[in-house]
Amino acid sequence: MSKVQIAGGGIGGLAAALACARAGHEVCLCERSAEVSEVGAGVQLGPNVVRMLHDWGLANALQEVSAKPSQLEVRSAITAGSLGRLRLGEVFEQRYGAPYLTIHRADLHGVLLQALQHTPGVSLHFGSAITRFSESGQGVIAEFSDDLQTHSDLLVGADGGWSTVRKLLLNDGTPQATGHLAYRAMVAQSDLPAHLHSDQVTAWLGPKLHVVQYPVRGCKWLNVVAIVHGQVLGDMSHWDHSANAQDLQRSMAVACAPLQELIGAIDSWRLWPLSIRQPICGAHQHAKGRVALLGDAAHPMVPYLAQGAGMAIEDAAALAWALSVPQAGNTLGDDVPAQLQRYAQARWQRNARVQARAIKNGQIFHATGPMRWGRDVAMALLGENLLDMPWLYGGEAHP
Ligand SMILES: Cc1cc2nc3c(=O)[nH]c(=O)nc-3n(C[C@H](O)[C@H](O)[C@H](O)COP(=O)(O)OP(=O)(O)OC[C@H]3O[C@@H](n4cnc5c(N)ncnc54)[C@H](O)[C@@H]3O)c2cc1C
Repeated sequence: MSKVQIAGGGIGGLAAALACARAGHEVCLCERSAEVSEVGAGVQLGPNVVRMLHDWGLANALQEVSAKPSQLEVRSAITAGSLGRLRLGEVFEQRYGAPYLTIHRADLHGVLLQALQHTPGVSLHFGSAITRFSESGQGVIAEFSDDLQTHSDLLVGADGGWSTVRKLLLNDGTPQATGHLAYRAMVAQSDLPAHLHSDQVTAWLGPKLHVVQYPVRGCKWLNVVAIVHGQVLGDMSHWDHSANAQDLQRSMAVACAPLQELIGAIDSWRLWPLSIRQPICGAHQHAKGRVALLGDAAHPMVPYLAQGAGMAIEDAAALAWALSVPQAGNTLGDDVPAQLQRYAQARWQRNARVQARAIKNGQIFHATGPMRWGRDVAMALLGENLLDMPWLYGGEAHP
């Protein structure tokens, strides 16, 4: 069994710790923040992801805190008309063997952390940021901001889109601004007028903007994300800027009355400038030697397919699988670089496809002119066939 050092305790790092510890490896996870914290925002989990979380024994814990939306409805942000629907709920569960869930990030964090606390072989360190590492034939020595130094068989960089581990490993620059801003808010459904309550995922598409809303916490809360074109000045690596509700309302001036009413009913928003890297172009960007990248550190993506955290969780499952497969001619745990190559080979193409599809979705969602017309006609003609993605929701994290 291997000694696994993980840098980063976001959804990807926690999932990797759980998957590896469940497979019998010894895990040390170091997170930069002094305490576990996730932002007040939601996350959608497709059945491809929920299947894995269920395999890890988390079905009951998830059911208690998530919502199971009845359908995805795409609406015009300008006319409010319905453009297309995809039945989720029981239909999706039967089709893909697991439900489509929506959840508050802090709740998903909590579910993963609680499972970790009941899994032997895991040590967690907070307020511990990785600053450097060195690799030898025998293992990896990693150094942290709190003077911790660890010796492990491998290092996993799960330290997000502005990853220190990636910089030290690949030194391939930083993510670039997309020119898109995400305004995020959570509101108790009981604080909204009854006609704005909702148990479904709704995506409102408009020229150079879109809004996604869905329930979380057993449908008691509504998560709303509004994406508009714009820039912020300052450090892009610092997410979660405070937001001005009036700026957002101005950006939504072209929107239909029901959407404006929803946006206007929410006072408090937080702002994320969205940044991006081009889709990963080979296994060498996922792992090298005894160091692997996982989640946003490997493949940051725009959130227009709602699968960034999903791919991080899939990476985690694939990492545990790769570490537990003995390489030909070696005993288990003997050949970590080859195992990490197996992980990288298993993951890079699917992650690249998801990254590319997310970029394309952004162009489709924000279309203007003839492209917008074509989109709406295609959705009306093809309906569910256009919105469902068996390659994604039925796809596997590893062979
Ligand atoms: C508006 C928006 C909506 C989204 N919606 C969805 C969705 O519906 N579904 C979905 O699947 N995904 C969604 N995503 C994407 C998803 O949030 C990310 O892909 C996911 O959170 C990535 O997880 P991660 O663990 O790789 O990185 P992060 O969540 O960024 O975690 C990285 C962790 O590493 C820590 N860290 C950083 N540097 C260091 C260091 N030097 N040493 C130690 N620790 C360090 C950080 O503090 C952090 O805790 C959305 C993203 C946005 C912006």
